[in-house]
Amino acid sequence: MQAKIVTLPGDGVGPEVIAGAVRVLQAVAQQAGHTFSFEEALIGGCAIDAAGDPLPDETLRACEGADAVLLGAVGGPQWSDPTAPVRPEQGLLRLRQHFDLFANLRPVKAYPALAGFAPLRADLLADVDILVVRELTSGIYFGPRQEQGDGDSAWDTMLYTVEQVRRVAHVAFRAARERRGQVASLDKANVLASMRLWRRTVTDVGREYPDVALEHVLVDAAAMHLLRNPARFDVVLAGNMFGDILSDEISVLAGSLGMLPSASLGNGTFGVYEPIHGSAPDIAGQGIANPVGTILSAALLLRHSLGLDAEARAVERAVEAALDAGARTADLAPDRGSALSTAAFTDAVLSHLEQVPLRG
Ligand code: NAD
Repeated sequence: MQAKIVTLPGDGVGPEVIAGAVRVLQAVAQQAGHTFSFEEALIGGCAIDAAGDPLPDETLRACEGADAVLLGAVGGPQWSDPTAPVRPEQGLLRLRQHFDLFANLRPVKAYPALAGFAPLRADLLADVDILVVRELTSGIYFGPRQEQGDGDSAWDTMLYTVEQVRRVAHVAFRAARERRGQVASLDKANVLASMRLWRRTVTDVGREYPDVALEHVLVDAAAMHLLRNPARFDVVLAGNMFGDILSDEISVLAGSLGMLPSASLGNGTFGVYEPIHGSAPDIAGQGIANPVGTILSAALLLRHSLGLDAEARAVERAVEAALDAGARTADLAPDRGSALSTAAFTDAVLSHLEQVPLRG
């Protein structure tokens, strides 16, 4: 197949991890006989420096013409003044809004080889394989708010419509069908009216998926269960704020922030794929960032935007095989002397990928 992929490396370690993921995509294309073309564009702080805008029109036009976007990270100390008129993260928010990317998928897997790096006992991490589906473009982060006020009060509104809940619930149920057939929907229906609408709507959508088991879990209890018994969860569906908080909570199960990918999807196949970590200014420019989150984001891109599931699996298996064989970047190496650079770790993934027959 032919596909056009726009890369937005962004700031800090973004360009370093994107370089690794692009090499992996190029290897997949070569091995499986696909033609992927890549176009690079600016986002975030570097775009503010070059064009005065964290999401220049040129970048948006490039993304509009692409099948998918692979993004690194944005931000850094030089653009962190909260009172500045333009900030790097506005580029990300506008990109998501422009393409109405309402579903954020964050798979969290605990790799046995990395169990020692997570703050939970190894026996609790066995078989942890969770997909968080977070609603991304509505809820309290987008509801009516009082921005300034008199200094004595301020408010934000958690507003959901049935349609906003329905569409993200469908994403969760469809994903569960391809996995272990369970959805845990998190809410606070005992207190919040918006969350009663959430629960009612998710229950309605669930009737269309009789083969998927649905449970409703109050978000405070879920925060505990996700750490006490994470292996019991398959797909976790949550609104914008609860999904934001809980996906960060369980990111520690993977051992390093550098490990985790994400996909932001809308109604069609177009998506924006990015690691969940930020621009890591403390290690930027040293060539030591962990590229796994970005490489696994590229795997999600293959699966969700290009429909290439076998290729996505091959990339995921190659990452796992590299870790099993002991390949580690500095964030996961107790002895920094044995750590691989970003490029050398990517080489290790590529050498395992080469062993997977992808053509025919
Ligand atoms: P961060 O994720 O950049 O870094 C947190 C810690 O994790 C640092 O010690 C960093 O070195 C480490 N780390 C992160 N990614 C790593 C990787 N791939 N390999 C090895 N170690 C890694 O979070 P932060 O320090 O809070 O934020 C730094 C900047 O990134 C800020 O400007 C913030 O606004 C921005 N940020 C951007 C995004 C995004 O682009 N989606 C997300 C979060 C933060």
